[in-house]
Amino acid sequence: MESGIIFLLIVVVIGGFAFAKYLRDKYLAQRVKEMYDSKHTAYDAILQQYIPYYRNLDAVQKERFLKRALIFKATKHFEFVEMQEEEHMSLLISAAAVQLTFGLKHFLMEHFHKIYVMKRAYHFGLMNVPFQGHVSEDGIYLSWNNFLNSFANYTDGDNVGLHEMAHALAYVNFPEHEHDGEDEVFQYRWYKTFTKIGHNVFDRMQAGEMTMLGSYAATNYQEFWAVCVENFFERPTAFKIQLPELYDAICKLLNQDMLKPGIFLEAVIDDYSQY
Ligand SMILES: [Zn+2]
Repeated sequence: MESGIIFLLIVVVIGGFAFAKYLRDKYLAQRVKEMYDSKHTAYDAILQQYIPYYRNLDAVQKERFLKRALIFKATKHFEFVEMQEEEHMSLLISAAAVQLTFGLKHFLMEHFHKIYVMKRAYHFGLMNVPFQGHVSEDGIYLSWNNFLNSFANYTDGDNVGLHEMAHALAYVNFPEHEHDGEDEVFQYRWYKTFTKIGHNVFDRMQAGEMTMLGSYAATNYQEFWAVCVENFFERPTAFKIQLPELYDAICKLLNQDMLKPGIFLEAVIDDYSQY
């Protein structure tokens, strides 16, 4: 009898969670659809203006990109610290995340609910050097002026938006952070290809070898990864010439190749019919 009641309780609780998730998803789909219907022309123009990666996509991929950016934006809480929010800001920050994960199935980085935006570089903790951005347990932090400059100067291998999103993507995918991991394909590829080749280059850089990635990449392995991402997107030709194995490993990892027409190694199928 008692076990019957416990069973019933479990069913009710699981059912409650499932129903809450159903309502949440439905509400999200509704919000994204409304945003898309009322704003997609304006948002397309903003992405076109600011995001070089978006400019190079074909019409079908632009549509997919915009929908992913809207979903990402709708699922995050953006907090503007001592600065006035403007509409394009959260869209562009979402676009940086979507660009990095555009070849992956999972792109929401669900561990992170909050994105903090500061006007300019800021002090954090006991560090003397001002930060352009960082990622911690409670959120992704970005300085807006540096974020904008990064996309305006898109050939120097320096992009704080892509850099911090790279940290966030690593954060949500690795068990050392005590999360289950968001994208199994990403994890598999990371261990299979990137770890071996990446560590080889990183170890050589720590021993003093100079590469096009610059000395900051030798700070630690997480910084190495984030700097690789910046250079992968902004200087793919030089990257492939100087560090071809590492470049190819990142292509496989992200399922994107900046030097390949159509970009993707394998097709990514999204179903956005509800939006
Ligand atoms: Zn970093």
